[in-house]
Amino acid sequence: MSAIKVHDKLFVPFIAEETILNKVKELARKLNKDYEGKRPLFIAVLNGSFMFASDLFKEITVEPEICFIRLASYKGTQSTGHVITAVGLDVDIKDRHVVIIEDIVDTGKTLHTYLPQLLNQQPASLKIAVLLHKPEAQTHPVKVDYACMTISNKFVLGYGLDYDGLGRNIREIYQLSE
Ligand code: 5GP
Repeated sequence: MSAIKVHDKLFVPFIAEETILNKVKELARKLNKDYEGKRPLFIAVLNGSFMFASDLFKEITVEPEICFIRLASYKGTQSTGHVITAVGLDVDIKDRHVVIIEDIVDTGKTLHTYLPQLLNQQPASLKIAVLLHKPEAQTHPVKVDYACMTISNKFVLGYGLDYDGLGRNIREIYQLSE
């Protein structure tokens, strides 16, 4: 693997495909154990999680369901501040065991803002599973229940994650070069 240029920036190899897939399988094993006898509902957050959600879902053996949402963020009024709404949540989550599938928790702002809306709908349980977690970048409290990998606070792309629209098709994860 060598460095690649995406738009105007240089990215260096960071996490190999084999490592990613092994970590995803490891996470699936944990979920299969923790959700034994249940029928979890996975809610995958597009766009960044599509590859992760797909590989993870293939390894789940406990009769899971999945749906996909997009989180749209816009500026509300001065009193409401930053608002996040979900597009595409067409499943009743009341009394369901919900697992959010996210690509990455960076500042935590997106999930911190959105989760109360899901909790309002009274799921039986609500857990967060992420491909990548950047604990050093986190400024908003979000409990990441499952993380495939913890990484430092640098921009990454590949395996579903983009830089300005490009790079999602890359099988490995690359990191922005210094
Ligand atoms: P938050 O800061 O709210 O936790 O992150 C929100 C979203 O920003 C993530 O779901 C992800 O789509 C995007 N994001 C955060 N860090 C990175 C990164 O290093 N690379 C890419 N490609 N997207 C990121």
